[in-house]
Amino acid sequence: MSSRQKIVAGNWKLNGTIESVVALAKGIAEGAGGLSCEAVICPVSLHINDVRQALGSANLTLGAQNCSAAPSGAFTGEVSAGMLAEYGCRYIIVGHSERRALFGETNATVALKCETVQTAGLTPILCVGETLDEREADKVDAVIGAQLDAVVDHCGIDAFQNMVVAYEPVWAIGTGKTASPAQAQAVHKMVRERLARQSNSIADELRILYGGSVKPDNAETLFAEADIDGGLIGGASLEAASFLPICLAAS
Ligand code: PEP
Repeated sequence: MSSRQKIVAGNWKLNGTIESVVALAKGIAEGAGGLSCEAVICPVSLHINDVRQALGSANLTLGAQNCSAAPSGAFTGEVSAGMLAEYGCRYIIVGHSERRALFGETNATVALKCETVQTAGLTPILCVGETLDEREADKVDAVIGAQLDAVVDHCGIDAFQNMVVAYEPVWAIGTGKTASPAQAQAVHKMVRERLARQSNSIADELRILYGGSVKPDNAETLFAEADIDGGLIGGASLEAASFLPICLAAS
């Protein structure tokens, strides 16, 4: 039996002002003392330093939502994983479906970013997931398999020792439609079994999060599934009153 500690990561996306994100961080920090899951918050990169100062020694981990695939150089407008590490980030979300759909990130880009994040000493939260069309065409395993294989082929299976995978069905993100616990569990199991073909122990230790309209009232049943090791939370991470109960459900 593995000893996977649950993680709940809040993806704040492109939201907030300095004042509002500092207040949100403080509100979450106040309630985070007794959590036994790992609670991560991922503000906009520009807000990370203010949030970090607001957190002090709170029982919360900082993450970022994205980074450049390159460690440095002529890449106007980008932020590197190393820079985010300097500001205290421990995780970086990589390959979120919004990055894939709106910013043209391919499986190959995502694999490169995973490598860059790990080289900077941080842990990628690698997002995978299918669209509704892909689900209806019975392509869930093929799509997610290809998303995973790109990272395995580029980084090697050992890279998954320092990786978190987030299964986020695109049709469930920000829509209020959640995958049922059984639907999510089936995909999480498939992901673990696929990686186990290359290393049983790495697959067994890998934390696989579910994301897609997780709320306080559905978190507990999702997190009770055998292969669901926590959540990646969008909308409900924007208020301490909804993020904290989700963290508690994973504690
Ligand atoms: C997300 O964007 O990663 C997400 C899961 O969003 P929401 O919880 O709002 O569906």
